[in-house]
Amino acid sequence: MNPIESILDHNPVLVIDGALATELERRGCDLKDDLWSAKILLEQPEKIRQVHYDYFKAGADCAITASYQATIQGFSKRGLNQEQALALIQKSVRLAVEARDEFWTDQTNRKGRSRPFVAASVGPYGAFLADGSEYRGNYGLTESELMDFHRPRMKALIEAGADLLACETIPCLVEAQALVKLLEEIQSIPAWISFSCRDEVHVNEGQRLEDCVRQIEASPFVSAVGINCTSPKYIPSLIRAAGKATYKPVLVYPNSGESYDASKNGWDGQPVYESFSDEAKEWYKAGARMIGGCCRTTPEDIRGIANWARSSR
Ligand SMILES: [Zn+2]
Repeated sequence: MNPIESILDHNPVLVIDGALATELERRGCDLKDDLWSAKILLEQPEKIRQVHYDYFKAGADCAITASYQATIQGFSKRGLNQEQALALIQKSVRLAVEARDEFWTDQTNRKGRSRPFVAASVGPYGAFLADGSEYRGNYGLTESELMDFHRPRMKALIEAGADLLACETIPCLVEAQALVKLLEEIQSIPAWISFSCRDEVHVNEGQRLEDCVRQIEASPFVSAVGINCTSPKYIPSLIRAAGKATYKPVLVYPNSGESYDASKNGWDGQPVYESFSDEAKEWYKAGARMIGGCCRTTPEDIRGIANWARSSR
């Protein structure tokens, strides 16, 4: 049984974790860099392990690894060779596995909980470009070029011991299709496919979310589909759109609704809600079975979701 099914089998909601980068910054890491949280893999890996642990403690059923922006091409711009880059990508998985094992070894953490799993982040091609194009798509690459880009990292993440692949912030249909083809080529662990969206209907490049989900959901390697790194204000209608196209679990982990400015590697505006966990109840009502937070969300937000999700069992 895949880790998503085994948790949803006896829980109404699977709790995803919250932002990694935001939490690293709060702990003094400088992420103003094209490698983003992948830079901390190089410099302060222990802090990443600690953030994963704190999200498990806050109630997360899974940790999303620090590999979102960790790519062979990105590290090579920093003078790392392929072998060193792959080692760092695999380290992102090992840090999350260590945090999970430490959490689960402590019997007091097990009360009312399922054993959490490690979801290895597969960020979009646009995240490696570090120019904000994961929020636009339109890369001008073919499906097979995108498969070539994703193949070595995906294999490395699987070899390092990930339980599942979190293909996330995908802005366009062609990249989702490339990822699903790769999953079927590699024939290994399951994945979730999560799109970034620009309004109540469309993924960032402009295709309808409902159509994107319908195109990719049937693969046996796709365990869940949904939306992340999107403003909470669009989420309820997007959940309903995804739900029309699949019977598989729909997942959501929105950002805070602030907007990302790639030119300064920073965020503008204010969160668009008062309580993230109150918003999450609405997402559950709209049909989401897996809920967490993306950029700018915190362990407190995740604790809020876990508190009502586990008490409503
Ligand atoms: Zn995000």
